Amino acid sequence: MALMRRYRSTKIIATLGPATDNKESIRALFDSGIDVFRFNFSHGTQADHQARFDAIREIEAETGRPIAIMSDLQGPKLRVGTFADGPIELVAGRRFRLDLDPAPGDIKRVSLPHREIFEAISAGTELLLDDGKIRLKVTKSGPDFAETKVINGGPLSERKGVNVPNVTLPLSALSDKDRGDLRYALDMGTDWVALSFVQRPEDVAEARRLIGGRAAILIKLEKPAAIEHLQELVEMSDAVMVARGDLGVELPPEKVPTLQKRIIRLCRSLGKPVVVATQMLDSMVQAPTPTRAEASDVATAVFDSADAVMLSAETAAGDYPIESVEMMDRIVQEVEASEIYRSIIDASHDAPEPTVSDAITLAARQVAETINAACIVTFTTSGSTTLRASRERPAVPQMCITTSMATARRLAMAWGVHAVHMEEESRFSAVVTRAVELARQQELAQPGDKIVITAGVPMGTPGSTNVLRIERVK
Ligand code: PGA
Ligand code: MN
Repeated sequence: MALMRRYRSTKIIATLGPATDNKESIRALFDSGIDVFRFNFSHGTQADHQARFDAIREIEAETGRPIAIMSDLQGPKLRVGTFADGPIELVAGRRFRLDLDPAPGDIKRVSLPHREIFEAISAGTELLLDDGKIRLKVTKSGPDFAETKVINGGPLSERKGVNVPNVTLPLSALSDKDRGDLRYALDMGTDWVALSFVQRPEDVAEARRLIGGRAAILIKLEKPAAIEHLQELVEMSDAVMVARGDLGVELPPEKVPTLQKRIIRLCRSLGKPVVVATQMLDSMVQAPTPTRAEASDVATAVFDSADAVMLSAETAAGDYPIESVEMMDRIVQEVEASEIYRSIIDASHDAPEPTVSDAITLAARQVAETINAACIVTFTTSGSTTLRASRERPAVPQMCITTSMATARRLAMAWGVHAVHMEEESRFSAVVTRAVELARQQELAQPGDKIVITAGVPMGTPGSTNVLRIERVK
């Protein structure tokens, strides 16, 4: 059986869609380097997602590699209604009205079927339409209407998105559609749930209540309101996405790069996996090679030490899905092989927290680097020790061994973690033997190499890591 070991630490996420909607395409994406598959619930039917899910679980069984599936909920994306005679042209300086009347719109008005917006806006509020291409300023508003002045005009067609950048909307992060999709995704057995347009800590708390422990939660940072509660939101989540598409509409684009660095730094220090997403190789939707700027953008995310980089339309709807993954894989490997990458990582280790788990994982890195060990092996039940070990960003490969398939799959998101699923074993000596065997079998160590093992004795109790062991591979 091919082992599918990746020769890089930064993970790659692919969004599935019409361009990659059969088992062969999904297998080809996996073989070219995908670690996590994203299902975008803004598009397609629940049956489409189920077919993708089944194909991935088959590929997992065929390859013996745990694969993570992330169900990305649409969230409260606001949209205008329809137009009676097709798209209209908005002209700068003219007036335009938005209201709750469901009647098809015209050059003077259109429906905006979200009562909450009218309650939250007032004269002076800016509304952005169609990914920010059109800009309106509210001159007067009431409970069911807003009069606006067009600041930036352009064509507007039906169902285009509306962003209200500087206002915290009194909307739950989960719409009725999201609640239905969430139930579906959990019943299917999704590993991760991605929450779109999170604004407040209550949004994450509510999702956590609904999800229980059935899936891990990734929050998408794409609203300025979320940035105001950044630390608390990151602490409440299991992983974070810098969702630069909507973030760059809600905020001026020049704010996004610095914010990306700030978010990554915070996530790194808190030990939460962080994903950089959107437009990474965007021109590869239509072309077999990226722009130089795009190659540089992927490299920057890797240098910043993100856990994962993501492909969206490139793999979901593009003409070159496999080429996009191969290109991303090559860029990541090139950066990780450079001396400058290692020197940046070595200069930015976060201080350990005063816990046994951090003491052991920090020691594991230092020991492994000092004796030039072939790899670090962490035994984990919940995945928490392995995430702390990943936070150390060791210079040697990391293998995680777990008896929980759910944990193995979730860890596909984390930097440097090669997760392996193992049957239950309670004797520590047998566990050490197993670690050595698996390190050889997974091509992470050869006879004569030393490996560094962390485990919790007695085995199988979550959060019990208390042993550091150095073992020679025979
Ligand atoms: P989306 O999220 O693709 O679901 O909009 C990502 C982003 O906004 O960047
Ligand atoms: Mn978005």
